[in-house]
Amino acid sequence: MDNSWKVFWWEEGRKKFRRFNQHKPTEAVAFAKDLKKKGIEVAVVSGRKAYRIPESKKFNREPGMLWCPYCVEWRRFKEFALKKENYVTGADFRCPVCTISTADYFVRKYNEEIREAASLLYQEAKPRRKRDG
Ligand SMILES: [Zn+2]
Repeated sequence: MDNSWKVFWWEEGRKKFRRFNQHKPTEAVAFAKDLKKKGIEVAVVSGRKAYRIPESKKFNREPGMLWCPYCVEWRRFKEFALKKENYVTGADFRCPVCTISTADYFVRKYNEEIREAASLLYQEAKPRRKRDG
């Protein structure tokens, strides 16, 4: 499946975005870099394809963060409704940048893996109980 990319940025407190209909993020990244040079906060987001956590970002997680497979970043998901032109969605936990919800298959999948890994680590770290008798 071909991917597309979105660049989000914030100007005077307002969120803006531009879509790039190319499989590779080259143009989106170049556009984002130009904005960044001007000191503007910017995010490059995958339009369709979900990405797993790369090795380089495995340990960047802070408590309370979930993996956003479309931002390809750790994000603090927040509960809010989406206001579209013709309708408003129900409130849901969403990525504050790309607005993907925790109902998304890949958001669930990658964060389920994190939970499992975390619980395994926790189990291993727990001291063993002495047996009675
Ligand atoms: Zn996101």
